Amino acid sequence: MTDVRAGLGRQSATAFDEACRHLVGGVNSPVRAFGAVGGTPVFMASGCGSSITDVDGRTYIDYVGSWGPLVLGHAHPRVVAAVQEAAAKGTSFGAPTEAESTLARMIVERVPSIEAVRLVNSGTEACMSAIRLARGFTGRSKIVKFAGCYHGHVDALLVEAGSGALTFGTPSSPGVTESVAGDTLVASFNDADAVARLFEQVGAEIAAMLVEPIAGNMGLVLPADGFLERLRSLCTEHGALLVFDEVMTGFRVAAGGAQSLYGVSPDVTCLGKIVGGGLPLAAYGGRREVMERLSPEGPVYQAGTLSGNPIATAAGIATLSELDDGVYATLTSRSAILEEGLISAARDVRLPLQVTRVGSMLGMFFADGPVVDLDSAKRSDTRAYATFFHAMLERGVYLAPSQFECAFVSAAHTEDDIDVTVAAARESLAVVARS
Ligand SMILES: *Cc1c(COP(=O)(O)O)cnc(C)c1O
Repeated sequence: MTDVRAGLGRQSATAFDEACRHLVGGVNSPVRAFGAVGGTPVFMASGCGSSITDVDGRTYIDYVGSWGPLVLGHAHPRVVAAVQEAAAKGTSFGAPTEAESTLARMIVERVPSIEAVRLVNSGTEACMSAIRLARGFTGRSKIVKFAGCYHGHVDALLVEAGSGALTFGTPSSPGVTESVAGDTLVASFNDADAVARLFEQVGAEIAAMLVEPIAGNMGLVLPADGFLERLRSLCTEHGALLVFDEVMTGFRVAAGGAQSLYGVSPDVTCLGKIVGGGLPLAAYGGRREVMERLSPEGPVYQAGTLSGNPIATAAGIATLSELDDGVYATLTSRSAILEEGLISAARDVRLPLQVTRVGSMLGMFFADGPVVDLDSAKRSDTRAYATFFHAMLERGVYLAPSQFECAFVSAAHTEDDIDVTVAAARESLAVVARS
């Protein structure tokens, strides 16, 4: 294989040079920089349905979907129309609009545990606010998170497991202070026994436990049988709030999110990505008794100049309106074909590939054994993934530029798209096997 980057994108290379002159690292979010796979990022010009077109005019079948929001595909006509209509009526008021209530009602109707909602602008903001609310509600300060779960770049959550029996967190980024990290306890995903021991020791100090019910930010890692149920009962027993971060899984794995799939009810849920239909909007919501502690009803402060922005709200309403049972069934069946295609292609070239899937979220680990937590995810062969990624890119398939991210199938992906993708994967896996 020649250098795939050489054939790819003179214009992308120029655009990246230009970007690097004034933008830090040429990008506005680090994973876009291709650091994990090498090479320079492909600059996009447009998207339509399942595909995106770069500035050099090359078209790819897209499985990034803006990292999850685009469950209907790019530039869905109803979403575009809703955005145009809203924009023409004024881009922001800083006063309430009826559309905000419509979106809130749609969320409450779909997500079983949510009785009241607050709209915000990003998943990070939703998680940050949910922690403050939990602390304000319980009067406690500690929170529990799981290694490998990502909840946005909130200080208290940019924390990794420290050493010692009780895993007080240590900062995973400069700028996060020891004292902030010290209030975060880190456990292993799928290790409910460790969580139980943690609660035995400091249960009375724990305000909340945050978890991605289906972990999607260390690749796709499914919860073991009974794991979420045990987290629920431990939180109940010790008076801590269970917070499900469904920023990625909400409206993705089912209309009611992972909580409806697994039948476990959190106290607070964070939503983002799909709920904004590709615009900057997120939300958190939960039991009324908890949500009522928020200002202006209660004392816990949280605000936002652009919160519930009319354009973003319109995109969210238009997106959720399209997502009926039929769409979820199609998403699941197309994704299952992709999953099977990847598994059989890997088997044929004798590559150890672990494919995980829930609904239209897929994970691919170049690993020998099943992936159940961050440690096992980290045993994957990232060089193999980098080779695979570039081979797919060269064949017109755009995957996330890191093994520790999900692939998302959208409602715009046709059976033909999936077939083309599987054929490209066959060739690309053969390239990996030879490398
Ligand atoms: C993407 C994501 C976030 C952060 O959302 P942003 O909108 O990028 O701030 C938080 N939690 C999970 C589970 C996510 O996937």
